[in-house]
Amino acid sequence: MGKALDDFVHSEKWWRTNIPSEIILSENGVSDSLRLLKERKGRPFFILDKALVGQEKFKPFLEAEPDFLFLFDATASEPRTSDVDALVKLVKDKNLNPDVIVGVGGGGAMDLAKATGICLKNPKTAAEYQGWGFDMLSGVDVWVVPTLIGTGAELTPIAVLRGPQKKLGINTSLVAAKIAFIDPQLSEKAKKFNRFFTMMDCFYHHYEITMSKTSAPDAILDAQDGLTLSRSVLSRDLSEYSLEVAVTSARASILGGSSTIGGRVGASHAISYGLSNAAPRLPHSVAVTISMLGLEDLYSGGGYEETLKYLDVNGLPVPKARDYDISASHIDGLVKTALGMDKLWLSHFGEGWEKTVTSSFLRGVYTKIVEA
Ligand SMILES: [Zn+2]
Repeated sequence: MGKALDDFVHSEKWWRTNIPSEIILSENGVSDSLRLLKERKGRPFFILDKALVGQEKFKPFLEAEPDFLFLFDATASEPRTSDVDALVKLVKDKNLNPDVIVGVGGGGAMDLAKATGICLKNPKTAAEYQGWGFDMLSGVDVWVVPTLIGTGAELTPIAVLRGPQKKLGINTSLVAAKIAFIDPQLSEKAKKFNRFFTMMDCFYHHYEITMSKTSAPDAILDAQDGLTLSRSVLSRDLSEYSLEVAVTSARASILGGSSTIGGRVGASHAISYGLSNAAPRLPHSVAVTISMLGLEDLYSGGGYEETLKYLDVNGLPVPKARDYDISASHIDGLVKTALGMDKLWLSHFGEGWEKTVTSSFLRGVYTKIVEA
């Protein structure tokens, strides 16, 4: 085992925000999670990212009883509210009564696990819980085993879902995972594209939170540390997986979770939600990258140039909205979605954000994005 990994699993906590999830830093996340399931929980239901099928390391999860295993295809779409409703119905119809939902995969698989866990114990459909401030009961416990580093989803109290009306999270502390098993080796077989863009999203979370007007001081300090770490990762060519880089990424991702608990992202995330609504196959991390580049006026001298630099270091083309079939005909819908992101605009601009973020401002941003 490398020194970087050894140091990682024996680290003292490096974040300030109080994280309610139990974090297990592990050199063998798969067997640690299975062992703890035996010790602490009766009956697990697994939600596994389909991309992991065929990887030797994840075989033990695939040996679960078929009724207790759901394979999620994250390439077709981020999890939809209808996916959650279908899974809840399946688990109830078959009387499976799981004691814990285990989400193994990237942000999508983890968010699907988090949403399914809470919706199993609450009467309404998932779409009816998208947003903030609903009166909800505790769900079935959720454990997560991230296999992509940087989403922060392993720790955040949010399950982001694509609904019939909008892409929006179920936002409540009840939705956070009870245990997160963090093993930087689990991303070894992930594609460079996914490893790169997931860390770009991690960078944006930290970057936007450091600029936020509404985030808690500890969250901003965590985000500053996370920003340093994600910059050090993205300044390198990530073509080959490196354990040392994966360890640094995992440290940054945990800070991404902690900074998101007390903090809130800003403008490029607000713009990205419109794009995501228009294009199911557009990954969240790419949507935020496209949005950052459409907001040169806001991020010039910082995130805008950094984005171009990291793409260049990694020999990747600048992603475009048109690659995902987003065109001028979508602009009305894009503007409408982005106008609804009031908490994110408040985070970026503070009180009075409505004076800046008008329909015509947004129309200008999206026109630039679709014409890029
Ligand atoms: Zn994000």
